[in-house]
Amino acid sequence: MFDRLRLSADSPTHAAWLATLLENLMASANAPSGPPPASKAFIAALPRPKSLAPDATCPICTEPLDEKDSDARSLPCGHTFDRECVVPWLELRNTCPMCRLELPTDAPPKPPTPDPAQFVTTRYHVDSDDGEDDVYGMYG
Ligand SMILES: [Zn+2]
Ligand SMILES: [Zn+2]
Repeated sequence: MFDRLRLSADSPTHAAWLATLLENLMASANAPSGPPPASKAFIAALPRPKSLAPDATCPICTEPLDEKDSDARSLPCGHTFDRECVVPWLELRNTCPMCRLELPTDAPPKPPTPDPAQFVTTRYHVDSDDGEDDVYGMYG
């Protein structure tokens, strides 16, 4: 019995699973307030840089951006990245990773929606106020 407990606590798979779960939770918690992804058409049409310094590197992975070997892509602000580095980024948010220049998005900005949690709290607050009034009426 003790052996079983020890096994499950020390299991690296379990630790990895917990880490993944935590990561997913953080990601989904951050998602609603974060910027929208960049437009798919915009990502697909990202231009190659017209010219590239011989020692240019991708700011994300710091690998050299060789015009021949690397599939480099330029953003409108002039920052240049590996395609494989910048595309996953742009699929999550519509900003340049370096200067936060806003890029086109597919989704129109959502109108602010009432927060259901706040609505419940307000209702509860009003109800409890009524209750307090009754209590005061009883004793006063
Ligand atoms: Zn890179
Ligand atoms: Zn930039």
